[in-house]
Amino acid sequence: MEQAATPPAQRHAMGTARPRLATAGLAVVLAILVGSSMGTAFAVNRAARLVAVDSHQQRAWEEARYQLAIASEARRTLLVEGEPGAAVAVTRSSEALRRALQAARPTAGDQGNNHLQQAEAAERRYQHAMERMRAALDAGHRDEALAVHVNVVEPAAAELAGVLHEGAASEQDQVAARVARLGHLGGMVVLAAPALFTVGVALLVGSWFLLAGHELHLAERQHDALHDPLTSLPNRVLFRDRVEQAVRAEGWEHDQGAVLLLDLDRFKEVNDTLGHHRGDALLRQLAARLRASLRTSDTVARLGGDEFAVLLPRVGGLDGARAVARKLLDVLAAPFVVEGLELDVHGSVGVAVWPDHSRDADELLRRADVAMYAAKHARAGFAVYDAGHDPNTPRRLSLLGQLRRAIDQGELVLHYQPQVEMRTGKAPAVEALVRWQHPTDRLLAPGEFIPLAERTGLIEPLTTWVVRAALDHCRRWRDAGHDLAVAVNMSASSLLDPRLPNRVATLLDETGVPPRSLILELTESSIMTDPTRSLAVLSRLHGLGVRLAIDDFGTGYSSMAYLSNLPVDELKIDRSFVSRMHTGGSHRMIVRSTLELGHQLGMHVVAEGVEEPAAWRDLAALGCDFAQGFLLARPMPAPELDAWLAQPLRRPAAPMTAGLTTA
Ligand code: C2E
Ligand code: MG
Ligand code: MG
Repeated sequence: MEQAATPPAQRHAMGTARPRLATAGLAVVLAILVGSSMGTAFAVNRAARLVAVDSHQQRAWEEARYQLAIASEARRTLLVEGEPGAAVAVTRSSEALRRALQAARPTAGDQGNNHLQQAEAAERRYQHAMERMRAALDAGHRDEALAVHVNVVEPAAAELAGVLHEGAASEQDQVAARVARLGHLGGMVVLAAPALFTVGVALLVGSWFLLAGHELHLAERQHDALHDPLTSLPNRVLFRDRVEQAVRAEGWEHDQGAVLLLDLDRFKEVNDTLGHHRGDALLRQLAARLRASLRTSDTVARLGGDEFAVLLPRVGGLDGARAVARKLLDVLAAPFVVEGLELDVHGSVGVAVWPDHSRDADELLRRADVAMYAAKHARAGFAVYDAGHDPNTPRRLSLLGQLRRAIDQGELVLHYQPQVEMRTGKAPAVEALVRWQHPTDRLLAPGEFIPLAERTGLIEPLTTWVVRAALDHCRRWRDAGHDLAVAVNMSASSLLDPRLPNRVATLLDETGVPPRSLILELTESSIMTDPTRSLAVLSRLHGLGVRLAIDDFGTGYSSMAYLSNLPVDELKIDRSFVSRMHTGGSHRMIVRSTLELGHQLGMHVVAEGVEEPAAWRDLAALGCDFAQGFLLARPMPAPELDAWLAQPLRRPAAPMTAGLTTA
């Protein structure tokens, strides 16, 4: 199978987890961006406030220093010139100095307070010194005033100037430090913002991609739900939907469309005998061929197993649909090569058209299915829907009731076709072929009612009737001195019925026919329906002494290894190979290798469908044991066979081609 590396549920979980993760990442980055910008704004605001406070402090200190300088100047003027204005200036600037220091107090920090205390103490000492100096001046002791000035006032002023300088410098340092911190923070924001922005954009782009991937994944899941994983063709759900749309499409009243169902014959055998991987490969090849053979407006779907469907939204009536059905069969005709093995594939196509057969999508599909089964049972390749095929139509249901009565009321008849021994020209066996003498209809061939019996369970009483009637006739011929065996055809369902061997044993007992004179014919496909169960039934039949033959050999896919394990006495080469032997090519080779295979496995080989003297000669040359076909005798009612058996020799004497005995 394709894909399937990761389970769908896991893929879905991965598909949704990643975008969610990216979105969460994006939210985190956005939160960091918002948080950091808020934090930055808060820090800047706080820093600005502190800088304003620091500046105020700094201004106060500078004011104090300035007033001290003015006071010092006014003091010198007062000393030198004794001017009364200078005394006022000294007083004013001293007060201004004090005010400046007081102004700094409310907003001073720990360090500022420290400096302020020192400054106030120094200021007090300075004022004290000043008062002494002024007192000396006021007393007219100029020399003493000068001495106080030099020895007390100047040192006190110098000390105060030093303290004020320190305070101002400390405030200046604080402002500088805060500005530096603000700058650092700004620098970090300058670096972090683009980085976070880039991460955010990356996450945004990433989650966009992931979401786009997720959407793609959802689209894939939707595709998976509507398509067949093996062939990638639309599945039944999508096909049905398309049929519905096509039927309902505008203007459909004027349009005709068709639904075709294609089913491979005996595909199960390919799977069982060659392996599932080869079966899958075959289906993939077939899907590609079907798709390539139709228009793009047509839909090809795989409904399941080996069943394909085609929708032709517009088709030129029934003839157009038939032409496409033939085309589908042509597609199958060319051999399929799987791992070097050439496979001959056959199929059956059922056709239903709208509006003739139905205007409902489900009903059209069902009717195409009915037609497909009809084609399969008639081995007709394809069939167009016909109410007569339909098991649910009144005609079909009444036919079923009639068949039930036919078995009880003796409307079934057996025709016999001899099998002639090629070497001696004698007929040691005849094949019983059932017919239905319908009271109001013609003589119906087995293909017309056996499939119906197989599908309804009537096959069991029918088979019992055929075996009993064939053994009755056989008994009579044997009593008349003909050492004759009778061959009876078995359906797949009979082979799966564990009661069959007992039933056959009872019938042999009742009719007194020796078991070796009964040959049961089985097809490869009926054995392969359920090889284990049919082998159990076959072994018990073989144990009774009944002979077993494989009918229509070559049309199925039984493996040689499997065949050699079956208790089979006879191979019957299908007439499709025998009738085409003379065309050369592979058919003659198939006949020859079947003969060799049968002989090597210790079996007799019967060629079916011998119609031409050339086929007889070819078969004789290849060493075939028995021949059956129109060249020797057509199937005939029992009384005619009595007469036929009375004739001396039925061998077309080689190389004689004329004067053959044909019935
Ligand atoms: P089959 O067992 O392969 O029988 C041989 C068929 O080939 C018969 O068709 C016979 O009439 C036909 N045939 C014989 N020689 C020639 C020939 O030279 N050329 C051509 N073209 N055909 C020839 P019939 O009688 O229509 O039977 C068809 C099939 O129906 C049989 O194929 C067998 O599978 C099935 N059938 C017949 N009777 C019974 C029965 O009693 N029970 C079951 N389950 N199936 C039966
Ligand atoms: Mg047969
Ligand atoms: Mg046959």
